[in-house]
Amino acid sequence: MAKPQLPKSAQFVIVGGGIVGCSVAYHLTKMGHSDVVLLEQGQLSCGTTWHAAGLVGQLRSQPAMTNLIRYSTELYSQLEAETGLATGWKECGSVTVARTEDRMTMLMRTAAAARAQGVEVEVITPQDAQDKWPVMQVDDVKGGLWMPGDGKANPTDLTQSLAKGARMGGAKVIEGIKVTDILTEDGAVRGVVTDQGTIEAEVVVNCGGQWARELGKMCGVNVPLHSAEHMYIVTEKVEGVSPDLPVLRDPDGYIYFKEETGGLVMGGFEPEAKPWAMDGIPDRFFFQLLPDDWDQFEILLENALVRVPRMAEAGVRKFYNGPESFTPDNNFLLGEAPELKNFFVGAGFNSMGIASAGGAGRALAEWIIEGAPTSDLFAVDIRRFANFNNNPAWLHDRVKETLGLHYAMPWPNRELDSARPFRRSALYDRLAAKNAVFGSKMGWERANYFAFEGETPEIQYSFGRQNWHNAVAAEHKNTREGVSIFDQSSFAKLIVQGRDACAQLNRICAANIDVPVAHTVYTGLLNERGGYESDLTVLRLKDQEFMLITGSAQAVHDADWIRKNFDEDAHVFLTDVTAAWSVLAIMGPKSRAVLNKLTNADLSNAAFPFATVQEIDLGYATILANRMTYVGELGWELVVPVEFTVGVYEDIMRAGTEHGIRDAGYYALEGLRLEKGFRAWGRELTPDITPIQAGLSFAVDFDKPSDFIGKAALLKAKNDPDHLKTRIVQLVLDDGVPQLWGGEAVLNNGVEIGEVRSAAYGHTLGSAVALCQLDAPERITVDYVRAGAFEIDLAGVRYTATAHLRSPYDPKGERPKLDL
Ligand SMILES: Cc1cc2nc3c(=O)[nH]c(=O)nc-3n(C[C@H](O)[C@H](O)[C@H](O)COP(=O)(O)OP(=O)(O)OC[C@H]3O[C@@H](n4cnc5c(N)ncnc54)[C@H](O)[C@@H]3O)c2cc1C
Repeated sequence: MAKPQLPKSAQFVIVGGGIVGCSVAYHLTKMGHSDVVLLEQGQLSCGTTWHAAGLVGQLRSQPAMTNLIRYSTELYSQLEAETGLATGWKECGSVTVARTEDRMTMLMRTAAAARAQGVEVEVITPQDAQDKWPVMQVDDVKGGLWMPGDGKANPTDLTQSLAKGARMGGAKVIEGIKVTDILTEDGAVRGVVTDQGTIEAEVVVNCGGQWARELGKMCGVNVPLHSAEHMYIVTEKVEGVSPDLPVLRDPDGYIYFKEETGGLVMGGFEPEAKPWAMDGIPDRFFFQLLPDDWDQFEILLENALVRVPRMAEAGVRKFYNGPESFTPDNNFLLGEAPELKNFFVGAGFNSMGIASAGGAGRALAEWIIEGAPTSDLFAVDIRRFANFNNNPAWLHDRVKETLGLHYAMPWPNRELDSARPFRRSALYDRLAAKNAVFGSKMGWERANYFAFEGETPEIQYSFGRQNWHNAVAAEHKNTREGVSIFDQSSFAKLIVQGRDACAQLNRICAANIDVPVAHTVYTGLLNERGGYESDLTVLRLKDQEFMLITGSAQAVHDADWIRKNFDEDAHVFLTDVTAAWSVLAIMGPKSRAVLNKLTNADLSNAAFPFATVQEIDLGYATILANRMTYVGELGWELVVPVEFTVGVYEDIMRAGTEHGIRDAGYYALEGLRLEKGFRAWGRELTPDITPIQAGLSFAVDFDKPSDFIGKAALLKAKNDPDHLKTRIVQLVLDDGVPQLWGGEAVLNNGVEIGEVRSAAYGHTLGSAVALCQLDAPERITVDYVRAGAFEIDLAGVRYTATAHLRSPYDPKGERPKLDL
């Protein structure tokens, strides 16, 4: 095929001709955009794609990812008919087996979630598993899953087929051309420089696979990924292996199998991976492999021989060791870079790029065209990371663990262990000395709970109650009845200031933030569909200066959303000041008594009402005290300059001794907020849920003088009788024993109608409490909720639950009212 001429300009330039770049090109053209140029330095698929094993498995622990892969299977099954190029797609189904009861529980939990998304899945016995995969031995197998819709494809053929589809839609695909620089102007991308000339472009898409980090560096964009070696072998013929054999996964042994010309492809995800290319990827690393490493592969081989003893008799035809890029959390990186307008990234596929490419390519194409994701994609959104995540030493140490996460047990509250501690609050050492057990969010070390004296500060994971249940119960009770202190320094803090700050923010916030100085407003930031992009608290510090306090994970995301929605010529500036301020939340009915001992400020209800903020003296420190609560009790969030944090903490602990003050952590916080029915962004509040559905209309001001983003959609939704077929509802289990974690299926009258978005044990209510998203066939009214026969499916066992639109834990106190 003659090489297409290099155009001088194009609307969309895609860098990288692996499966992901080709899928993005395909989908852009499908959406009617033909001015697309794809540039590949070698030949299509020559990077990582060509040596992939080609497994396409839909079961993922993140529902958003399952959803994308489900679409991939649909696309791959019909692509050949469309383009005339074979893809090697075969819907052979897959069997996943469990060696332990815990793994079986986990499989049943994920199966329920997958089923809720329309993925066909069946729980099977060891005998069924062996019937489907006769060459395996099942003496140690507890059970398994059968997924008929899973399949396998030939990655190179699939890539060529997607590229052909893109060409048919008008795209130019140019091979043998290297992008050497990215052009920018006024904070936006302007084009690419190649070794053969420059192309001006409106949009540039970085689909550079393991090269994507370097491509990002050309224009100041952080793409946190690191290469690691990844391996499989292909055996000679194995007796009993036939072409119609499904894919087999044995995650407890870290391994998978698929049939290939009568032999087996056997590979896996060893618990400790081997990072690669610390000094950069060698030039022209096209269609290349790394040396065989049998030592690294040993753990996989040992396990494979347990599962398929007959493999011992077969010779090894080929050892594939290829590098793949891995990210800090094992999810890929998608979306517009917060650092550079119109520069998009689709990279870091953590060895699931073949499976994900169809769905991810479509999602990214939609994001490019619509200017925002069209569904909840925060799990893969590049804005979940910040510049510090791009540190190479940190990435190196982290990806050793992330590769293995593929088949590691996804415990509900599992924390990653590697490359920590990372970001530490001023109190880290003090809390550690008090037996704090830390989790990690946005890199911050945060106390999840405080182990009792004499106990090892370590989580013992399980699906039932874990070893910290009683410690958290004590923190919970102390907050409800006495006073606790929470180190919430990881909360993101953004200052918005400038002559137009108030007007600009009021258009971005759904509530009216044009309140008197020293008032605080809880508000959602909505998209044009009326769905949540964030929810946060706005503190009006001065006439034109606001502090926004938002979730730890949302710093980059929210700053990006707000900046993007500022009018271009507005006099308004946003600065992330997270690192300058700590937040100590002092919560509980005795919080006022403790603070009174340390300040001259009048903390009475009259002088310091709910939802107000004041600069006060506290011991030697001058701080901001914000009367807010996330636990539903009297309390203040103290916003303290970092250098005064230790002093303030020590003063509070001293003053609080007589009131029984104690430290409390994020597990207690979760149980406390869920009992109160407080919604959280990223869990109940997503881009697909409106304040009306969330029961948070009180935090929307339809009557404020200015328009706000999402208002038109909300007004329409108000008059749409179907809008409330989806609703966030609180469920409390009738049985006080079981533990819920989130992700469980919810049923009404035996029919699946939703899922648990977050859950914790409610120590005041005496049973597990959950906030659930229900998608019912009818409008979810008060009567529907009262009349319902609700159950929650906990790995196959159903527990009855009582539904509430308003929390049953509802004393007079600190909370805005939820709508009925
Ligand atoms: C051993 C192994 C087995 C695997 N098995 C599976 C599996 O069974 N199922 C599954 O889903 N996934 C699997 N994967 C993962 C899968 O191969 C990858 O996730 C996927 O191929 C990534 O595709 P990509 O398009 O992002 O990257 P790539 O295929 O690497 O494409 C990126 C392209 O960008 C080009 N490029 C980079 N820089 C420039 C530049 N400056 N100018 C021009 N071009 C540039 C590169 O040459 C390259 O071709 C496996 C991976 C390995 C290593």
